[in-house]
Amino acid sequence: MPEIKVLPEDVVSKIAAGEVIERPASVLKELMENSLDAGASRIEIEIKKAGRGLIRVHDDGRGMDREDLRLSLGRHATSKLNVFDDIYSLATFGFRGEALYSIFAVSRLKMASCRAGQPSGYAIEGEGGRVTAELPAPPVKGTTIEAADLFFNTPARAKFMKSDAAERAQLIKTVEEAALANLGTGFRLVIDGSEILSLPALPGGMWENLKNRAAAVFGKSVYSGMARVEGKAAGLAVYGFVSRPDCLAATRANQYFFVNRRPVGSALLRQALYRGYGHMLTGRHPACALFVELDPSSFDANIHPQKRDVKFSSENEIFKTISNTVYEELLAKQTAGVQLAAPAGENKFTPPDVPAYREAAGAPAAAAEAPGLFDAPPAQLREAAQPVPSDWRAQDLQYIGQLAKSYLLFECGAGLLVVDQHAAQERILFEKYLEELEKREIKLQPLLVPLEAELSRSQMETVLRWRDWMKSAGFEIDQRGPTVALLRATPALFYFTQPAFAEFLGYLSEVLGDPGKAAEDIKRNIIATMACKKSIKAHDFVKPQEAQRLMEDLKRAKDGHHCPHGRPTLFHLSGADIARRFQRSGAL
Ligand code: ADP
Ligand code: MG
Repeated sequence: MPEIKVLPEDVVSKIAAGEVIERPASVLKELMENSLDAGASRIEIEIKKAGRGLIRVHDDGRGMDREDLRLSLGRHATSKLNVFDDIYSLATFGFRGEALYSIFAVSRLKMASCRAGQPSGYAIEGEGGRVTAELPAPPVKGTTIEAADLFFNTPARAKFMKSDAAERAQLIKTVEEAALANLGTGFRLVIDGSEILSLPALPGGMWENLKNRAAAVFGKSVYSGMARVEGKAAGLAVYGFVSRPDCLAATRANQYFFVNRRPVGSALLRQALYRGYGHMLTGRHPACALFVELDPSSFDANIHPQKRDVKFSSENEIFKTISNTVYEELLAKQTAGVQLAAPAGENKFTPPDVPAYREAAGAPAAAAEAPGLFDAPPAQLREAAQPVPSDWRAQDLQYIGQLAKSYLLFECGAGLLVVDQHAAQERILFEKYLEELEKREIKLQPLLVPLEAELSRSQMETVLRWRDWMKSAGFEIDQRGPTVALLRATPALFYFTQPAFAEFLGYLSEVLGDPGKAAEDIKRNIIATMACKKSIKAHDFVKPQEAQRLMEDLKRAKDGHHCPHGRPTLFHLSGADIARRFQRSGAL
C-alpha cells in the first residue's frame, strides 16, 4: 500500500479557494474587478450579514453567453488571454481564471448574464463547486453574481473571520478603493438594506472627476484639507491628493495607494509619502489617494492574488520621486511662506535629504515615519531626565511660579522641581477617567450644541457598531446623514473643540475596528489617552492655588512621573547640580 494519497478534487478546490478567498471583501474585490474588466459603467453591490449572508454584484458590462457562463466556473478559465500578449503578463495582472472557481467552491452561487442584443439570458446555480441548475434568465444586459452563505462548507475558515464590524468596514473600503481608481464607473453599495455609498459615474476630466470622488469618499472635511500633487520621472508618474501639513490626522485610516490604478498596500509607498513631509510630520498621519503609474514590466503585482504588496524593480527611484513630489508640490509651493520661511534671498528650498529607500527601511521599522502616538519616548529623552527625590510626594512643595506659560516651578528639598503642566494635567485626567470608568460612575455633561465630525463611511460604520460601548464610556454619539457623527454628551472631565472631537472620533473608529486591539482594557486605555490629549487643558496661565492643587493631584496619581504617552511630567534639578553650575562646592 503506498502511503501517499492524492487528495480528492473537492478538497483540492477548497484548498485553492483558501488562497484566493480569504474573507468576504476578497469575494467582493474579485467580483467587482470582473465587472470592471467587462466594461461596466455601473456596478451595484448588495451585502447582507457582513458578507457572510450574501454578496451580490450586478453590472451592465458585456455579459456572457451560455457557454461562457459554464466555462467561467472552471479552474484557470479566463477570457483575458487575448488582451495580453503573453501568459506571464496576464498572470502578473492577477488574471489567473481562479476567482469564480474559488468563490463557487466555498459558497452557494447564482449567476445570471446576458450579452447585449441577445433574446434571452442564462443563469447557473450551484453550491460548493457543483452545478445544480441551468435556466433561462431575462434579457438584461450585463451580469449578476450572488455568492450566499460564504464558507458554509469550510467551517474552519469561517472561524477565522473577524468581527462583523471589521468585515463590513473592509467591504466598504474595497468599494471605496475601486471607486477612487475607476472614475468613469458608477457604484452603489447597500448593506443590510441601507444605502452606504452612491457614487454616480463621472463625465468630466480626470482631475475634476478625481476631486469629486475623493470628496465623496473622504468626506468634505478631510478632503478640504488635501492638496493636489503631481510629479514625473523617467518611466514613472505620481499624482493624487494628499493632506496639507496643517491638516494631518491622528491615524492612517484615510490612506489609499494605487499602482497602475490597482489598490496596493506598500510600505515603500507609505514611507516615501511620509518622507515627503520631512519634519512637518509630528507623529501624525496624512490622508491620501496617491496614484503611481509605471511601466507594467517594472513591478510585480499580485502574482499571489491576496497579496496587496507590490515589488518594484527600481525602489529607490520610486521612493525619491514620491517624496520629492510631495515635498516640492505641497510644502514648497503651498505652505513655504508660513511653515518653512527661508532666509531672505533664498527662494528655493532644499528638498529633504532623501536617503535611498533601502537605507531608510534598514533602520528600525518604519524609520521614515514619525513616531507613533503610543511609542515610548526617545532614549535620549529618558536619559536626560534627572532622578527625582524618592520622597517628593511627602514633601511640602513650595510653588515658585510659572515659566513660559507651560512649566510650573516648585522648590523641592534644596533643589528645583519642574513640572510640565500639560503632561501633568493629562496624567491626572487619565487616571480620574479610568477610575470613573472602572466604578461605572462616569459623570456626564450633555452638550447644548452637539459637536460634529465628518467621517468616511467605513469609519461611520465602525462608530455606529460601537455606539453602546461608547455610551458606557461617557460619549453619546449620534448620526446625522451618512457621514456626519454628532457628539451629544461627553464625560464631564473632558472639554472638546469641534476639530479636536473630529480627530478624536476619527482615531477612535480605527482603534475600535482594529482586532489587534480587541481587549476591552486596551481600548479603554486608548480612548482615555486620546481623550486626555484632545481635551482642552483648563488654562494656560495657572493661578498659585491651581498650581498647588495640580501638584496635590499629581502626588496622588498612580504614575505621577509620566503622562499617558510616556513622556515625563516632571524633572528635578538638585541643589548640588545648581551649585555645580556656579562652580560652588556643596549644596545651596
Ligand atoms: P479572470 O478574471 O482571472 O479571467 P475569473 O475567475 O475572475 O478569472 O473569471 C473568469 C472569466 O469569467 C473571466 O475571464 C470573464 O471572461 C468571465 N466573467 C467573470 N465575471 C464576469 C462579468 N461580470 N462580466 C463578464 N464576464 C465575466
Ligand atoms: Mg477575475
